[in-house]
Amino acid sequence: MLVLVLNSGSSSIKYQVRDVAISDDDGTKAIIAEGIVEQIGEGEVQNHSHALEIISTELVKSLGDRQIDAVGHRVVHGGERFSEPVLISNEITRAIERLNPLAPLHNPPNVLGIRAIEDKWPELPQVAVFDTAFHRTMPERAWRYAIPNYFYRNYGIRRYGFHGTSIEYVTKRAAELLDTPPGDFNAIVAHLGNGASVTAIEAGQSVDTSMGFTPLEGLVMGTRSGDLDPSILLFLQREGWSADDLDRTLNKESGLKALFGNNDMRSIVEADDEKSRLTLEIASYRLAKYIGGYHVAVSGAQAIVFTAGIGENSWQFREAVARRLAPLGVTLDDGANRAKSDESRTISTPESALAVLVVPTNEERAIAEATAALVQARNEVSTAD
Ligand code: ADP
Repeated sequence: MLVLVLNSGSSSIKYQVRDVAISDDDGTKAIIAEGIVEQIGEGEVQNHSHALEIISTELVKSLGDRQIDAVGHRVVHGGERFSEPVLISNEITRAIERLNPLAPLHNPPNVLGIRAIEDKWPELPQVAVFDTAFHRTMPERAWRYAIPNYFYRNYGIRRYGFHGTSIEYVTKRAAELLDTPPGDFNAIVAHLGNGASVTAIEAGQSVDTSMGFTPLEGLVMGTRSGDLDPSILLFLQREGWSADDLDRTLNKESGLKALFGNNDMRSIVEADDEKSRLTLEIASYRLAKYIGGYHVAVSGAQAIVFTAGIGENSWQFREAVARRLAPLGVTLDDGANRAKSDESRTISTPESALAVLVVPTNEERAIAEATAALVQARNEVSTAD
């Protein structure tokens, strides 16, 4: 089965065609085609439908006679309704659209992507895979903010969490690597890309996560501040800063970029000067505090798992975090931590009280597999009828 995985943003669509029958573990053989169409609405590409025309022309070239069987969409916000991937119908598309106020930058382009496929290939089954869904198992003590309930009832203000597709995939692989049944697996999973979050996993499920109502809360990220005293925003608004200015500053001009000057972890560790050391210290300290807290949240984790760009590649960042975790009995095997590899692996010593793992994430693969599973189940039901 060939699945077209689409990640539609406001000005770009990333796509990948995967053959889900090929399950080689490095995954590259399963990728039949991939690419990105950028500058939608800015230059030559008028809108999402036009972008899809461009993608379809590319696919005809790279797929030859082979046909796409299904489309899987990465959808950022599934609100309180969606706790797993779903087959898309008109009603589902409208439900995703109703969540637009919660993710004004992300859900509208996701819906445009879904509608563009519907117009072009109305017979193709489509599946929505939500970034928030994996976190629907969080208990109320974790998702509820201590503010008047009015805000939750009227605006849906609560912790939702993001990166769920990646965290779920990485959690399963980590449990496999440690030979632990997923239902017995307690862990702390740090997804450290440009956006970064850390999730507490108890019995294989998300029970807390550092991103909240939006992806701004939590860790120090590439260009996002993470946790702040909310009064800072009130203070700055009274000083004349607009909501839009603050939104842009906290989401695009903060984090590693504000502390160091850019958000590339490679250049931070290479610089090795006072500023870069402080940046690394602030970011790794924040993550270590969360890991300590989540060790408590899950009543004792077996493992700490690093994934995404920084988590998979930056031994320096992993070392800085692990050093702070010495009081928990965490010790890294320096050789294993520094070794370059694209494989899932253990980087702690055998004596370490918690195993420390590096597990490469693969959101496209996770979306393609979820899509194929739903479409196959649907086909089986319709042949049984
Ligand atoms: P996203 O998918 O969220 O855009 P990625 O998962 O690709 O982000 O991660 C981007 C981050 O990973 C950047 O901060 C980048 O500097 C860092 N990164 C990528 N490769 C390396 C590397 N070899 N060493 C250190 N950091 C790396």
